[in-house]
Amino acid sequence: MRPERERLIHSLFDEYIEMYASRDDRLTARFSEDFSGYTGGGDFLVKDRDEWMRITRQDFAQVSGRIRIEMLDLSMQDVSDDVVVVTAFFHIHLPILDHILSRETARLVLIFRRESEDWMIVHSGISIPYHMVGDGEVYPIKGLHERNRELETLVEERTRALEDANDMLEELSYTDGLTGIANRRNFDRMLAQEWNRGQRAGTSLALVLLDVDHFKHFNDNYGHLAGDGCLRALARALEQAGRRAGELPARYGGEEFVVLLPDAGLDGALETARRIQKDVWSLALPHAETSPGIVTVSLGVASVVPSRQHIPEELVRQADAALYRAKQSGRNCLQTAAD
Ligand code: GH3
Ligand code: MG
Ligand code: MG
Repeated sequence: MRPERERLIHSLFDEYIEMYASRDDRLTARFSEDFSGYTGGGDFLVKDRDEWMRITRQDFAQVSGRIRIEMLDLSMQDVSDDVVVVTAFFHIHLPILDHILSRETARLVLIFRRESEDWMIVHSGISIPYHMVGDGEVYPIKGLHERNRELETLVEERTRALEDANDMLEELSYTDGLTGIANRRNFDRMLAQEWNRGQRAGTSLALVLLDVDHFKHFNDNYGHLAGDGCLRALARALEQAGRRAGELPARYGGEEFVVLLPDAGLDGALETARRIQKDVWSLALPHAETSPGIVTVSLGVASVVPSRQHIPEELVRQADAALYRAKQSGRNCLQTAAD
């Protein structure tokens, strides 16, 4: 094909595509009086130029934003001096989220004919292989919107399920599997939190640390499962005792438990520790190896006003030292941290 001829056909086609993509109504002025065309959706032949203009305007009104034509292949035929044909294959990208049309290959055949001095469109055959077009639609916009809504709902549902699962996992990662109360990790977190709060407010923070007496013997005598049951019962009792707002009972590890007492001084902590001791006594869980014949605990109590000079573990260290002395002084008793 002669280069100037090729340029001409290219420019005619490019001009058409630009007007079509930008939804430029002047495109209708390019249709010949003697026009025929195949529509995209219904794939039926229109021989009436006015009817074709109506369809084009409906198309432009339905999708008012600019559309993007992604060209895949283009072929040009120089039929005669006055007639040229362009066949194009492309993807249509609508200005809405669209997973269907943008992946389907559409085909357009355009026949231009020189009439007087102007090149007019005498035939347009567009073929868009989709099956979602409703009545009065050129593009399947309603279907696409509906699909997008469905997808959004699905994404929302999945996101919510994922958030729920994450919440559950987080909850689990902070819960002791055996007793269902807070675990060590949770306690460490709360301790750091309350330590900082106490430091800012200048209030004291107390801790009761307790350890089951002769628990190894308990396991030996009654079995590990009974031992587990005993730890659960103790955890329940701690939960009851720690009902005061802000008190956090936790399993510190093995057969050791803690109760963190924000805003509590030594007196308040002692009161809580005595209550715990009494509650454990009331459970009256048989234990042949202790002198009263039931499960008892030893408790260490400490209270500090958090300061920058110390780290949160200082509170645990003091309670632990007190607990050690409680064990030394015969168990089934409580001791406070020495100054
Ligand atoms: P003390 O009075 O000095 O504390 O003596 P103890 O026997 O309680 O102390 P020790 O630390 O020697 O033993 C703790 C026991 O607790 C040993 C371990 O088998 C038991 N234990 C730790 N975790 C669990 C658990 O989850 N379930 C059961 N059944 N036993 C546990
Ligand atoms: Mg122990
Ligand atoms: Mg013990």
